[in-house]
Amino acid sequence: MTNDARRWHPDTALVHGGTMRSAFGETSEALFLTQGYVYASAEEAEARFLNKSPGYQYSRFSNPTVTMFEERMAILEGAEVARATATGMAAVTAAILSQVSAGDHVVAARALFGSCRYIVEDLCPRFGVECTLVDGRDLAAWEAAVRPNTKAFFLESPTNPTLEVVDIAAVAEIAHAAGARLVVDNVFATPMWQKPLTLGADVVCYSATKHIDGQGRCLGGVVLCSQEFLDKHLQVFIRQTGPSMSPFNAWVLLKGLETLGLRVERQTDSAGKVAAALKRHPKVAKVIYPGDPDHPQADLCTRQMVKGSTMVAFEVAGGKEAAFAVENALGIVKISNNLGDAKSLITHPATTTHQRLSEEARQELGIGQGLLRLSVGLEHPDDLIADLLGALDRA
Ligand SMILES: *Cc1c(COP(=O)(O)O)cnc(C)c1O
Repeated sequence: MTNDARRWHPDTALVHGGTMRSAFGETSEALFLTQGYVYASAEEAEARFLNKSPGYQYSRFSNPTVTMFEERMAILEGAEVARATATGMAAVTAAILSQVSAGDHVVAARALFGSCRYIVEDLCPRFGVECTLVDGRDLAAWEAAVRPNTKAFFLESPTNPTLEVVDIAAVAEIAHAAGARLVVDNVFATPMWQKPLTLGADVVCYSATKHIDGQGRCLGGVVLCSQEFLDKHLQVFIRQTGPSMSPFNAWVLLKGLETLGLRVERQTDSAGKVAAALKRHPKVAKVIYPGDPDHPQADLCTRQMVKGSTMVAFEVAGGKEAAFAVENALGIVKISNNLGDAKSLITHPATTTHQRLSEEARQELGIGQGLLRLSVGLEHPDDLIADLLGALDRA
């Protein structure tokens, strides 16, 4: 079953991958809302704890509904294994902390999701793991940052919120030459449009909160890696520190995966149309969209991504005041910092997701006061375009 599943098209894997049926033969994946498992005998319990008998022990370690989600994600991503976590941040934290010790060094791209940047910039150094931040687009900077004790590279591509693209294959090569592993946060690309493991990455993380749920309900995360990385680093870290995904959330996310391909395809097509319409408005100073031939790294986008993105970033002339006026004039598009949702959501990164950074750090990342980040949803693109252009006209 699993071997066949590995040859399926993504659309098929999203619906059937990892499904395990109980004795009742239910059509839809069962929700095993249980903390623990009972054993037929004391001997069986002993064997289970000695790892001599297969089966579940405790849902902090694993749970059948969570297993189905992990298996479906691993098939989709083309990874040997997956481990689900309670949130995307739990996934990133586990992927990085599980493989480093005091005295190690991490190199990360500067343009990271705010909390990811906290992990490498603030948390790691508190435990003796030094971190160097680089411009992810600058391959020479990655190379120059390497030290004898460098253990991990970390990046996201496209980046939040400026949708810059990092050359994953080239950075993976530099990491491997240095004896380090590359960890990629693939949230903005989605599992549909970019396969970092194929490009040479060693570990991939997702916030399942975003496109994988895609309907604004549950938090979740997942780490995808080799069996070896799981056995050596990740498994024991997750089992003993406990950032486990709840079975209920795994069940919701399994249902989310069934429609992931359809949603992301539609949202990406709409995002392309929205980006093209925004470009023509006189109050829009700049539009950044990875599927656009005018994107500064259009060639790289084509090389490493199947399609653009469900995200569009645009700069409103007139700074914060103008950007706020546009947000406040919108009707269909909602003001929210989440993304990947069925509902179109807009945020002003300088005062929300990237408020924690200094103005200087924001400048460095190209996050101006007029920048807005739009997550395109499932509404009709014409309605979204009318809403956005109308808000720009009125603002
Ligand atoms: C949202 C997000 C995260 C964190 O995920 P949570 O589920 O909110 O913990 C990490 N990286 C990126 C790129 C994100 O967009």
